[in-house]
Amino acid sequence: MKVPPCSTWLEIDLDNLRANTIRLREASGTALMTVVKANAYGHGAVPVARAAIDAGAAWCGVARVEEAIGLRRGEVQTPILVLGYTPPDQVVEALSHAISLTIFDLELAREYGQRAATAGGLVKVHLKVDTGMGRLGVRPEDAVGCLRKLLKLPGIEVQGLFTHFARADEPERPETLEQLSRFNDLLADIDRTGLRPELIHAANSAGTLNFPMARFDLVRCGIALYGLEPGPQSPLPSGFKPVLSWKARLASRKKLPAGHGISYGHAYRTARPSLVGVLPVGYADGFRRTNGNRALVGGRTVAVIGNVTMDQSMVQLDEVPDVGLQEEVVLIGRQGEAVIRAEDLARSWGTIAYEVVCGLAARLPRYYVESGKLTHRISE
Ligand SMILES: *Cc1c(COP(=O)(O)O)cnc(C)c1O
Repeated sequence: MKVPPCSTWLEIDLDNLRANTIRLREASGTALMTVVKANAYGHGAVPVARAAIDAGAAWCGVARVEEAIGLRRGEVQTPILVLGYTPPDQVVEALSHAISLTIFDLELAREYGQRAATAGGLVKVHLKVDTGMGRLGVRPEDAVGCLRKLLKLPGIEVQGLFTHFARADEPERPETLEQLSRFNDLLADIDRTGLRPELIHAANSAGTLNFPMARFDLVRCGIALYGLEPGPQSPLPSGFKPVLSWKARLASRKKLPAGHGISYGHAYRTARPSLVGVLPVGYADGFRRTNGNRALVGGRTVAVIGNVTMDQSMVQLDEVPDVGLQEEVVLIGRQGEAVIRAEDLARSWGTIAYEVVCGLAARLPRYYVESGKLTHRISE
């Protein structure tokens, strides 16, 4: 495979993304919304959305209207749902791009309706119900009344009804079943009124994989499509493959004497004469300034030493004395038998894999692998 002409870059394997999409569709047997908010969790929204749609995804989910418009500019033609808050000032633009919006407040819904009606259109909305997440959503006991009013508002077309799970990645815990039971009770009430919207949805990746009865008409999956586990208690079933790798080239290698300070603050000192390398990767790329970082060099795991700086980090190379300048270094991914997963980095940083990949900076060039070939770069 061709190597990008860059100091550091991301490789996004769209073949793996397609395979994960198909795997998830087979496992769920339900229509799939591919969640591509936050630049597809750092993977690149347009190429990811297009590949997932190619592999059978029916919908795209984003957090904000700007993200939805970015997809339309990238010729994504599936329905798109904005899962988060939309200011009324963006409603006409959303309407003109056929973007569906989330409703969690009647006042806001009235505003949306007025704006849409004035523009001569009907904005499609999904009513969100808070069954236990404590974030956006109307309370379950208010949902039927809210739906009735929503259905009468000019400028509004109700397309869906949904909820979101707080703890679906902990399948042994009772909260997801409790949320599900509140949601099912609500659906029973709605069915008695004959007002059931076309699309009912609830499950994120963990919900989809761990709670088959939560799949309804559509599942909303992000993290599993990227081949990353939703949480430590929610490993992915076999067949899912990570999509993203983070690579760099070794920028420098030199021998330093014993007792030599490394990087700002000299937080590390060589204990003996040491071979020290420099990686062109720093905290401004999303590589955190914490202890315990590692990299793969020459097929082995080596320690990052001293403080990570904005654009560069140092590594201890005594175990791989033959490694040459410009040689490939891996921050996330595989090199021979050695692997660093985004989940491993997350654990070492005290966070979740979501935050690791979302934190990969815009300045990192994204290269896309298709049919086993590094085909194109899409700059942002
Ligand atoms: C982000 C998000 C998802 C996707 O969650 P994953 O855990 O990445 O599958 C689904 N639904 C809503 C409302 C979200 O905000």
